[in-house]
Amino acid sequence: AKKFILKKQFSGAAKPTDFEIVEEELPPIKDGEFLAEAIYLSVDPYQRAYTKNVGQILMGSQVAKIIESKLDGYPVGKYVVGHFGWATHTISKALTLPFGIIPDFGNLPVSLALGTLGMTGNTAYFGFLEICKPQKGETVVVSGAGGAVGSHVGQIAKIVGCKVIGILGDDQKGKYVTEELGFDHYINYKKGNVKEELIKYAPDGIDCYFDNVGGDISTAVISLMNKFGRISVCGCISIYNIGTDDLINFSPSAGVFIGNELRMEGFMVTRWTERWSEGIEQNLKWIKEDKLKYKETIAEGFENIINAFIDMLNGKNTGKAIVKVK
Ligand code: NDP
Repeated sequence: AKKFILKKQFSGAAKPTDFEIVEEELPPIKDGEFLAEAIYLSVDPYQRAYTKNVGQILMGSQVAKIIESKLDGYPVGKYVVGHFGWATHTISKALTLPFGIIPDFGNLPVSLALGTLGMTGNTAYFGFLEICKPQKGETVVVSGAGGAVGSHVGQIAKIVGCKVIGILGDDQKGKYVTEELGFDHYINYKKGNVKEELIKYAPDGIDCYFDNVGGDISTAVISLMNKFGRISVCGCISIYNIGTDDLINFSPSAGVFIGNELRMEGFMVTRWTERWSEGIEQNLKWIKEDKLKYKETIAEGFENIINAFIDMLNGKNTGKAIVKVK
């Protein structure tokens, strides 16, 4: 089995030299265990934020195929989604939600268990609907809008009947979210003045903000929010590369925040573990009804996860970044 461990603590942008590949022989499985082989690895921003200890395996989910089993309910040949990290093979005991045997997605790819029909999909579903509580006709802004969670949130906002503005860092992604996913507008934060463009596209103000990035983008969005606006704080990728422990690096003005009686709430998607299958089933239904589209940016080969990870942090992915191992 091969795995990637952190060789050097991240400092600034993640570099190939921060990782080391290690080979190890796994022991035979015992009663109550199964052996799984990685098929797809998930590439996620939190891996940069939360993998901290030298020698630690890079954390992360994967879709894996059971190749040996001494555990009831986990037959050879079934696919599981597990938090196995960046490893080619894993011995595991029974899994508990949000992990476990992947339900039947019909003819859709099993890799969706890492994205639209897995953690990122449920992050969008619960994190947006439960915290922003969007109403028909409201204006929703999503940052990180071309990525896995953001592109999904914007589509749910359209399903609910909202006007949607996506903020992202690449015009190709902007075309994708407006022309293919039905967003009303996009703003390229690398080119334009985010605040000025928001004023243009949201002349009546902003009711809901789903925040994946933090930083100056969030300061600009929040300054334009309407009375009783709702902010769902999902992630803060603009500081992950800086590596500070400060979670919030934006500063909504007290005048707007208090005067407009805004509500800002952070969340961990695991809050909704007991409702996990509800999110998966609803997202699957929307895909089948052609209301929800997905895109995967797939790199090939276990060793390539480092490049895929660095690329994702640099915005090279559209939709969900994954690595196809086998
Ligand atoms: P994405 O697919 O959105 O990939 C990350 C994207 O972030 C890049 O493609 C890039 O796109 C953008 N980005 C990178 N650096 C910056 C920057 N400095 N400022 C603005 N944008 C930047 O990732 P995910 O959809 O997997 O995750 C999105 C967010 O959701 C992350 O913050 C993640 O941590 C969070 N998350 C939170 C969960 C929770 O339970 N709270 C669960 C899952 C995810 P671009 O081209 O636009 O720059």
